[in-house]
Amino acid sequence: MSQNNRIDDYNKNLPIVEIYTAVQSEGSRAGYPTVVIRTTGCTHRCYFGEGGWCDSWYTSIHPEKGKFTFNDIIKMYDDNPHISEMMLTGGSPTMHPKLVNELTHLAHDRNIVITIETEGSHFIATDYPIDLLSISPKFSNSVPVVGVETPQGRLTDERMIKQHNKFRLNYEAMKKSIAYHTDYHIKPVWDGKDENALVEILECINTLNVPKEKVWFMPAGDSREALFKSYPILFDWVRDNGFRMTWRPHIIAFEDQREV
Ligand code: SF4
Repeated sequence: MSQNNRIDDYNKNLPIVEIYTAVQSEGSRAGYPTVVIRTTGCTHRCYFGEGGWCDSWYTSIHPEKGKFTFNDIIKMYDDNPHISEMMLTGGSPTMHPKLVNELTHLAHDRNIVITIETEGSHFIATDYPIDLLSISPKFSNSVPVVGVETPQGRLTDERMIKQHNKFRLNYEAMKKSIAYHTDYHIKPVWDGKDENALVEILECINTLNVPKEKVWFMPAGDSREALFKSYPILFDWVRDNGFRMTWRPHIIAFEDQREV
């Protein structure tokens, strides 16, 4: 096990903007109480047209500074001994390999199941494999449009688009990650209408050779209203095509509030 990939100062500020408890509501671990750790920084700059900017834009388009230490994570588990799950999300957690590696040690010592949410930009090798990669590849409907205002009022330019596309659909990284870590699933977001997006999603599933039971379709939308529009089409489509569906009940409960 490599020592140079470990965090030695547990009081040092890390690129983490949120630590909170929640119930996992997407994918194969749905229903489990979990500790959510949100890192800041992302290789992507997702803009979904009518769906708006990345819903955690404060970690990606306008990244906030990290404000938590490793000891804060340990305290969260000490304070919540009933929780034995971790959802590591972002931003893009794989931008922080040391932190992710240290978390695999904590998880190993305390019997915690780690789910890492990733867009698949980077492969990282950890001392203990990650239990579940929850991969949400980003398709062409996530590319920013020149001249659109960002959440903090900057105008999108070509540089931003280039940055977004630099690591988008990094199939080599996704394949390596799937082969290295314990388990995975793919979580494509689809509004049930955009046929081009569906073609890209199915191409991705094909390229990665993902069995249907590892594909969890998610309805598009970050509001109840938007979700409800996608639901009927997506339910029927998933029923008829043999994939899995995950319906994002945290949005029904809390819409776009932070830390839910
Ligand atoms: S990859 Fe995820 S965190 Fe990064 S910009 Fe896109 S939606 Fe946001």
